[in-house]
Amino acid sequence: MTQILFRNVTVVDGTGEPPFRGEVLVQGSRIQAISRAAGALSAPGAEVVDGGGATLMPGMVEAHAHPSFANTSDLASLGDIPPEEHTLLTMKHVRVLLDHGFTSILSAASAKPRLDVVIRNAINAGEIPGPRMLAASPEMTVTGGLGDVRLHHHHRDSFAVIADGPDEFRRAARHFVREGVDTLKINPSGDEFVPSARAMHTVMNEAEVAAVCEVARSRGRRVAGHARSAESVKMCLRNGVEILYHATLSDAEALDMLEAAKDRVFVAPTLGITYTSLYEAKDYGVTPPRDVARALEAELALGCENMRALRRRGVRILPGGDYGFTWNPIGRNARDLEHFVDLLGYTPMDAIVAATRLGAQLMMLGDELGQVREGFLADLLLVDGDPSKDVRILQDRDRLLAIMKDGQFHKRPPAGRGAYALAAE
Ligand SMILES: [Zn+2]
Repeated sequence: MTQILFRNVTVVDGTGEPPFRGEVLVQGSRIQAISRAAGALSAPGAEVVDGGGATLMPGMVEAHAHPSFANTSDLASLGDIPPEEHTLLTMKHVRVLLDHGFTSILSAASAKPRLDVVIRNAINAGEIPGPRMLAASPEMTVTGGLGDVRLHHHHRDSFAVIADGPDEFRRAARHFVREGVDTLKINPSGDEFVPSARAMHTVMNEAEVAAVCEVARSRGRRVAGHARSAESVKMCLRNGVEILYHATLSDAEALDMLEAAKDRVFVAPTLGITYTSLYEAKDYGVTPPRDVARALEAELALGCENMRALRRRGVRILPGGDYGFTWNPIGRNARDLEHFVDLLGYTPMDAIVAATRLGAQLMMLGDELGQVREGFLADLLLVDGDPSKDVRILQDRDRLLAIMKDGQFHKRPPAGRGAYALAAE
């Protein structure tokens, strides 16, 4: 079995404990041994990587990925991409995510029914490079909800699937489970850029959410909800939705309900997209109308306040920022960690824990992923510098000296920088 010994590294183990100098031995797909003493691990025949003091940390988890989004400013155009081109684009994007240190992603919706499933299967079969991936259904939405891009007298394919009433939602959910998704995605609330369904509007009803949750429960799948309004958060919690996206406009009752469900739910506020839509989209020629900008600003402020409160109450908050738009493109995902520090008051170390240990729990692999720990899966990053002091380092691809998934290098450590030595001993 292949053995790789990382020597002379500073371990940030994903638990929040202080970094320590040491050595880490990887055997096959797992972390075999960890030592805090130099030269303590011997592994005859192992490949030795001299880290030169670089940081060794768990690979990051993206909680709200959209590998099939085309980095466009116009979501509706996703429906115009033919399936063949769209498959290739999604294949490219999962590689981009891995190239940027994300060794696991939970998809937050596939832009066509089978894109996520096909790409996940190809990654798992070793046919294409990409992170561990949990595949989502397309967004299931109602007429006039986020994702209904149809116009009267004008047919247009959407990135979403439109259903009305519990029977249609049940049929759609069963269909996507048949096709192999891990997660069913619903859009119970609107969004600021949808005139017919704004963020404070709750557009799905109780019976529709219940129908999707019933299908998920009976088939061992999870439901993820786009839930910005307070009522949509409560509706999700009443019916067993486990992954809550946004939850930004939660009121006191919604916060109480989230706390009561803290052992089974995850919240990802997706700060990235809101922040860049407000402050950076204009650099890309996209300026939100003034009323939308004002609403986004208010949502970001309340959302940050709510996330701080939820964190104090023990709810798991995860980075993951809806990257996949022109002004918030795939590959910049690690910027969400910076937002956690700047907007939510996290220490850099706490932001790393959220992206690693908690992320692994979201991936349903909490007892074997997301930590540098003996017996755990060897999804590791070798980082030039100390991200536990400054998480912005993680946004610089060049400072990710090595990227390992399942004990195999996706990116090998560079030769000739004193950071790499190969020897049989
Ligand atoms: Zn999204």
